Amino acid sequence: MRTKPYEIAVIPGDGIGIEIVDAALALLDKCEAHYGIRLNRTRYDFSAELYRSTGRKITAAEMDEIGETKDAVLFGAMGLPDVRGPEGLELGAQVEMRAHYGLFASLRPVRLFAGVEGPLKNQHVDMLVIRETSEGMFAGLGDLHEPNDESATDRMTITRATSEKLFDVAFSQARARRKRGTPGRVTLLHKSNALRSNVLLEKVFDEVAARNPDVESAKHYIDVGAMYMVTDPERYDVIVTENIFGDITSEIAAGIGGGLGIAPSADVSLTHGVFQPSHGSAPDIAGRGVANPIAMFLSAAMMLEWLGERHSDPLCTRAGQCIQAAVEIVLAEGPRTPDLGGSASTHDVTEAVLAALAS
Ligand code: ATP
Repeated sequence: MRTKPYEIAVIPGDGIGIEIVDAALALLDKCEAHYGIRLNRTRYDFSAELYRSTGRKITAAEMDEIGETKDAVLFGAMGLPDVRGPEGLELGAQVEMRAHYGLFASLRPVRLFAGVEGPLKNQHVDMLVIRETSEGMFAGLGDLHEPNDESATDRMTITRATSEKLFDVAFSQARARRKRGTPGRVTLLHKSNALRSNVLLEKVFDEVAARNPDVESAKHYIDVGAMYMVTDPERYDVIVTENIFGDITSEIAAGIGGGLGIAPSADVSLTHGVFQPSHGSAPDIAGRGVANPIAMFLSAAMMLEWLGERHSDPLCTRAGQCIQAAVEIVLAEGPRTPDLGGSASTHDVTEAVLAALAS
């Protein structure tokens, strides 16, 4: 049994990030009381708002300190539409942490819960999209020549080393999900008929699949896969794909799963994990107390399950699973925030999940 507390870095960020992280911290308090786990939290106030007023953003030294002394990062949302970083891009520490910690896989589980109406009527949706996040077209390799008004080029890079790690994560996630009744199937979405980089991607997938014969595997072209996700989502359990295809398919998944307010995510490597909702800081509803905290709660649950798995700690895994069960009850019975057609506040939903967790 683990005797040391887990060290958690908490970065609320901007907008509704602050509101939903406060709600998640109340949930973690309850988990400590109920499941005998200990979670030491250290708060870091990096945000686009801080950058606007002081010019300060997270530094490499601060990320080193967090990476060396913390077991996981719980992140709200960062970025405001009118605050740009030095490179003219929207400011958010997520991208920097991905690069700094070598977080190569983004995990987005999507489930259409009872009580939530998705756009696909009567379809069963229960899938995990795993997106590679360190290479592909976003590897930052840039242009072969300076872009000009006549032409500009981006490059897609796939490496064997990263693909192997990515597919290992996919197969082990499929195995873990199978314990709660999913088929245990990994599907690669790719475009090897048109992109040379994807020929390598497919080749490495076949090799890793052959090493994991207990888990079913399949391959679909990305265009066909995008259609199946909408017309026949039951085909999919774990979807794994490269960076830009994953960027798009994880948004499709969030859409068919009932919306951003309930879509959690995790960015992981073999050693580091950052857990955050899929949505942004939602400035349009910030400060009104109506943000849906459920995506944040499910992200906290993923963090606890990830810690439990890494440290062979059944108490921590159980706490994560119990958060999910409590969320399921509240989504089925209410209360619901306005994004899910209800009129409840963040506070109402938080209280209901806390009560369901205790029951
Ligand atoms: P980013 O680019 O930072 O991901 P974005 O500008 O694409 O962010 P979000 O901040 O995610 O968008 O918001 C998109 C829409 O979804 C907004 O209308 C917002 O109010 C709504 N939304 C996002 N998260 C939630 C939530 N937790 N509860 C309720 N509504 C939400």
